[in-house]
Amino acid sequence: MRALVYRDFTDFKWEEVETPVIGSDEVLVRVRACGLCSTDVWKAMYHEAKPGTVLGHEVSGEIAETGLNVSSLKVGDRVAVFHRAECGACYYCKHGDETLCSEYRQQSIFPGAFAEYIRVAPRLVGKSVVRIPDEMTHEEAAMIEPTACCVRAVSKCGVSSGNSVLIIGDGPMAILNAQVLKTAGALVILSGHHDHRVEAAVRLGADYAFNSNKTSIREKVLELTGGRGADAVIVAVSSTDAVQQSLKLVREGGKICVFGDFRDVPQPDLSLDLKPVVHSSVSILGSWGCSTKDYHAAFNLIKTGRVRVREIITHRFPLERFMEALNVFMSKNCLKIILHP
Ligand SMILES: [Zn+2]
Ligand SMILES: [Zn+2]
Repeated sequence: MRALVYRDFTDFKWEEVETPVIGSDEVLVRVRACGLCSTDVWKAMYHEAKPGTVLGHEVSGEIAETGLNVSSLKVGDRVAVFHRAECGACYYCKHGDETLCSEYRQQSIFPGAFAEYIRVAPRLVGKSVVRIPDEMTHEEAAMIEPTACCVRAVSKCGVSSGNSVLIIGDGPMAILNAQVLKTAGALVILSGHHDHRVEAAVRLGADYAFNSNKTSIREKVLELTGGRGADAVIVAVSSTDAVQQSLKLVREGGKICVFGDFRDVPQPDLSLDLKPVVHSSVSILGSWGCSTKDYHAAFNLIKTGRVRVREIITHRFPLERFMEALNVFMSKNCLKIILHP
């Protein structure tokens, strides 16, 4: 088969590799669509990935082969595959912190979803493979994982109907967060830097969206929240400035959710004035990844049309033309990019 092999940020090659051989409790999936995620890009850019690896994790496809002991899936099934699975039994799993489970990352997909085929590990077969209905496209199914990360963030923020939530950021994850927040009944305000993305945010889910280079977000947030500030702020960019700024935008007693992935992205340290954190009882929390439960919840949101992912996809490329996809990603003249083998 062919796979997109990473050697350096400027050196990805669509080349011949060995097709994975499955064990008796595993399945082989023929990849049909895979999202390009900032995590993949950062891993390559900051050399967190080892040369020779295959990236990609937001995946959907068809069952191409099943192991002897697998009866829940059959060849030809259209599926979405979550690349993680928690154990469900440890201290972290029992306390709703599934992404911290020591087994969460132990079993995965191989070699990575930027490939023609992936092997799906035994624990994932039972928990993390979802059969998708005929009317759901493979592209939509590839959007389940990023949507699930937003489901988790929104539930960690404890958002309920009537809450006002500010999202800082205007990338595809910010817009997905906006849509998930709407399903929770929130008033959604989004702050971004790019006119085309800010416009898309209103079209695709946010109640209000502003370009913070042109509009005072603080004024708008206060105006829209009766002068209180937002009940929650989701920081969907990797920027310490944005976290700092969110302290001035959240209401007393509100929550700030650090959602953008800070891993390896060079950033100045956060210098935090803790007075408002203590005296105004503001909570700062992090949300990373998703559980299998979040994944199934996201699947249902997309299946029922409550989260509309189709319009968030602006570009599609064959994996062979990955470098073009990467250039479009870096230009930010896009929302979600989907790759096809
Ligand atoms: Zn992702
Ligand atoms: Zn666990």
